[in-house]
Amino acid sequence: MSEISQDKPTIKLSRRERLRRKALESVERERSKALERLKARSDYYPPLDYFVSLFEGPEGLKGVAQRTGREVAITMCLQAPIELFWALDYQPVRLRSGAYAAARSAPSRLPALMCPLLKAILGAVDSGSISMGSLAIIPTTCDWTSGLASLGGFKDFSGLGLEIIEFPRRKGAARAAESWRNEVRGLWTFLTQRASKRLGPISLKEGRVRIIEAIKVIDRAREAFESLISLRRQGQVPAHWFSLIADSFYLDRVERFTEKVNEASELFRGFKPYAEKGIFLSGSPVFFPNFKILNLLEEARLTVLADDLCSGERILPKKVAVGDDDLEALIDSLAESVHEGCLCPIFTENKRRLGPVFEAQNQAPLKGLVFNLLKGCHPYEMDWLTLEEGLGETIMRLIKLETDYTSEDEGNLFTRLEAFGATL
Ligand code: SF4
Repeated sequence: MSEISQDKPTIKLSRRERLRRKALESVERERSKALERLKARSDYYPPLDYFVSLFEGPEGLKGVAQRTGREVAITMCLQAPIELFWALDYQPVRLRSGAYAAARSAPSRLPALMCPLLKAILGAVDSGSISMGSLAIIPTTCDWTSGLASLGGFKDFSGLGLEIIEFPRRKGAARAAESWRNEVRGLWTFLTQRASKRLGPISLKEGRVRIIEAIKVIDRAREAFESLISLRRQGQVPAHWFSLIADSFYLDRVERFTEKVNEASELFRGFKPYAEKGIFLSGSPVFFPNFKILNLLEEARLTVLADDLCSGERILPKKVAVGDDDLEALIDSLAESVHEGCLCPIFTENKRRLGPVFEAQNQAPLKGLVFNLLKGCHPYEMDWLTLEEGLGETIMRLIKLETDYTSEDEGNLFTRLEAFGATL
């Protein structure tokens, strides 16, 4: 009788698949390490468990869909009015990644000086650490984001559910505003057509009621988030927790986010107000697990009391007043609020980006401004010039740190931050 081998048949993986799996493991390792670091902090208490758990569990779109019981719609940046998604029972998930391992595994043909955030997104999609759903909305904000639709995993969207919305770069111009209103009306039509497979046909009346309800839900989230921001101004919210909370906004139902932010605020209310030098953090976004800049600021004993990051205090849209408006007027108000309220430095005129800094100066004892610039992020590179010029006359001291997702420059950045701190 011949011997039967007990060995399992070995499946030969293609080189691409081996690399993909390796990249996925590295992304997971980086995520676990960052979470361990957060959990080891002396200011980690049970009310923060919820936020940590959102990043521990399956973070991909499947995890979000399971948690929320909703169809996930990927969004880029902040320009697609989120109320429209909630109104139609979608769970919008902002596509982002702070993983260096993901950026490193991005296709090698991408430009070396590409925005690390976008590179990490493409690497994460490629390695499978971010799964692609069947619906994605990309507003044409910066050039990297606009070009994303033709790259990587996004190419597979063609014909499925990729909606590009043209975001005008002029503010206060009637033609630009009208064009944006049209884009957002078109987005609503696109979303309702798809959602009607789940919800049945949506009449104008029902659409209006649904949007008003969604506005109220977002209003409550904004209220909770604003309370958290007030505590931050007193130096009672450590920057790491603030960023993690802001980053978690899209990972669960907004009602749960609101409830958990209120619980976290209760915790922070008991924290001793800050004793370090207070700073305003500006520039390119900061996403988990890349909290390098936050770690360095903390080591240099600089306390973040305010920011204008699209990953931080800017995550929620401005409040929209609801009157007797019909559906179209309501959608127009949401569109206008996003366009007029948008503080991204992608417009032809960006002086209004100084507003939040002056406002925060009145609310908190700010000594300086730290500008976090991701290499390859051209909008913020230009924005630095506006800030430097506009704030040069104030008592605030400024520093620009140009960096990426790697850790090699940490020593150098720390030395500069320490010297900066000494001048405050
Ligand atoms: S604005 Fe900057 S950080 Fe944001 S996607 Fe564009 S290049 Fe990247």
